[in-house]
Amino acid sequence: MDYQTARQMFGLPELMDVSSVLVIEPHPDDNEVGAGGTVKRWCDQGTRVTYLTVTDGRAGAEVQSAYGTTASSSPNAVVTMADMVRIRRAERQDANRILGVEESYNLGFEDGGNWSEYQLMSTLVALIRQFRPELVMTVDPWTPYESHPDHVKTGKAVAAALIYAKNRVMFRDQGEPCAVPQAAFYGSAYPNVYIDVTDTWEDKLKAMKAHVSQFDIPEWPMLSQYFTGEAERLYRDHLGERSDGRAEAFKALISMQLHFFPDAVRS
Ligand SMILES: [Zn+2]
Repeated sequence: MDYQTARQMFGLPELMDVSSVLVIEPHPDDNEVGAGGTVKRWCDQGTRVTYLTVTDGRAGAEVQSAYGTTASSSPNAVVTMADMVRIRRAERQDANRILGVEESYNLGFEDGGNWSEYQLMSTLVALIRQFRPELVMTVDPWTPYESHPDHVKTGKAVAAALIYAKNRVMFRDQGEPCAVPQAAFYGSAYPNVYIDVTDTWEDKLKAMKAHVSQFDIPEWPMLSQYFTGEAERLYRDHLGERSDGRAEAFKALISMQLHFFPDAVRS
């Protein structure tokens, strides 16, 4: 059964028509990279958008010379983990202002730390039951070659949390059970929904750039060109002829497809 058939069968809204969405990212900046244009559209139309950032971003300090370009700041400059946490918290707020995200929380897990998927999942069960969103969005942990443990653990923990959030006997002290009808994954190798973000594309790039510690880098012109080229290709392939059209792609599933649906990958 494909997603659109399943969605219609259960009378569920299209992604742009949900009234509330919880967008869960491993690191401060992932939501912008994966879904910034769509998030801006939701905020503009009054959809309730809540951000959860799993980790504190303390590890977000890489040397940029690996690609043969000159680092904008000295790779030997002393940046402590505490500095990075503070910097990235402020950058998250800056990006939120650009997109119009008013509710945003950091769960404080250690960036790159040895925390378990189960620990995160149980934290998320309580939060999902508290926020009770119509849609949960996060990174796709099943994209082949995705090697960042924080991304894999986050995506899987979110999917598992959707299963347990609706359970009436598990996590009884974590709030009233809540069945979230749909999930959507960004950064997916198996997208099945394409959102027109032509009008919000510049805001997405601006919000990405607000993460100065991550994107104020010599590679930014190449990176932004790559993202834009991809968005144009997605638009042309799936939405229409407009040469300046831009799209973001998601793997959407109704929650039932998150368990014992071997054809979900083709959905
Ligand atoms: Zn990340």
